[in-house]
Amino acid sequence: MAAIAHLGVGLAAKRIAPDINVGYLILGNYVLDILWFGFAAVGLETWPKQGAAIHPPYWEHSLLMAVVWSVLFGLLAWWLGRRSPHRMHIGVIFGLMVFAHWVVDFITHPMTAVMPTDRGLPLAFSDTPLIGLGLYRTMTAVWVTEIGSVVVGLAIYIWARRRMKQLSATASVTAR
Ligand SMILES: [Zn+2]
Repeated sequence: MAAIAHLGVGLAAKRIAPDINVGYLILGNYVLDILWFGFAAVGLETWPKQGAAIHPPYWEHSLLMAVVWSVLFGLLAWWLGRRSPHRMHIGVIFGLMVFAHWVVDFITHPMTAVMPTDRGLPLAFSDTPLIGLGLYRTMTAVWVTEIGSVVVGLAIYIWARRRMKQLSATASVTAR
């Protein structure tokens, strides 16, 4: 749940998938959090409450379920792209974007600077170990990483787009 760092990753992904709309790349990076809101709304996950004990987010932020959702959403993108000759590429990239969210969360959780009760991401369901590198233990790390990743992601995005335009310009020149 590293709020805007996921946006930076989605923008930067334009470098590896210049043919896919950046909106989809960004959306993929938020799928697990969108699922979390849905599960919290129906009571499968718990909203963080001040001072109250909450269970770790199992249904979409455990390593096991993040892999499951990444595969399922990759398949969904592959199916939705059935008219495209690049559907395999679209499916793989979208699945990777969904999993990239988990990787960023793994690096940043437990984020005790913003959620004091956070103990990390579960491997699977109850009683499995909680893991995470805990980058967000200080507010300085939170701000530097959140803003830094968007700035870097945006720079990579602009560079990737410029490169793509140059390539298509050269391609049309040689075609003539
Ligand atoms: Zn998250």
